[in-house]
Formats: sequence, C-alpha cells, structure tokens
Amino acid sequence: MLKRIGFTRNDLLLIAVLLLFAAVGVWRSITDAVNSVNAVSAVIRVNGEVQEVLPLDKDSETTVTGYNGGVNIIVIRSRIIYVGEADCPDLLCVKHKPISDSGELIVCLPHRVSVTLE
Ligand SMILES: [Zn+2]
Repeated sequence: MLKRIGFTRNDLLLIAVLLLFAAVGVWRSITDAVNSVNAVSAVIRVNGEVQEVLPLDKDSETTVTGYNGGVNIIVIRSRIIYVGEADCPDLLCVKHKPISDSGELIVCLPHRVSVTLE
C-alpha cells in the first residue's frame, strides 16, 4: 500500500486562493503607487471647459459657479477631494465618496461641473 503524501485537493485549492490574493495585493499596491505619483492636481471643468486647476498638496476650498448659476464648493484636505456643499437638486456630487487617485472624478450633472484628478 502506498501511503498518500503531498497535497490533497483542498490544499491545492487553498494555495491557489492564497496565490490569487497575493497577486491581487501586489497588483493593487503597484497601481496605487503609480496613481499617487500621477495625481498632482484637481481639474475643475464647467460645461467641459477648464475653470480651475488646484494643486493637491495644498488644502483649499473653492467655490465653483456652474451652469445656471449653481454653486459647488470643492474641498481639498490632505490630497483628498470632495464636494463639501452644493445647491443642485440631486446632491449626488456631495454624496459621492471623496477621491484621491488619478483618473477618478466627481460630476455634478445639474451644474455640469466635473472634478478630475490628473
Ligand atoms: Zn451636484
């Protein structure tokens, strides 16, 4: 009788899952590093036209007047950007989670205001 040694199917599955988690972790840390290097400014557009370019390394609060006189207050705190206040009807921009990575954006559709990290 040959005694079974080595990996069972469950062991292999566990190893595969662990490898997957490790690979995802490495991939995420690489993309995070690339993103944090890339994002240097918050670009605010109204109706597609650049209104303001704000440096991320300086905390600020900027009032943006959008389409139809709508107001959005764009807040930068420790390289994280969010809409602090707005008078749009849906308030989706205010409810949007703060952004900090290059390529992320917050849009206020009623005011046609967008904030992108570039
Ligand atoms: Zn809004």
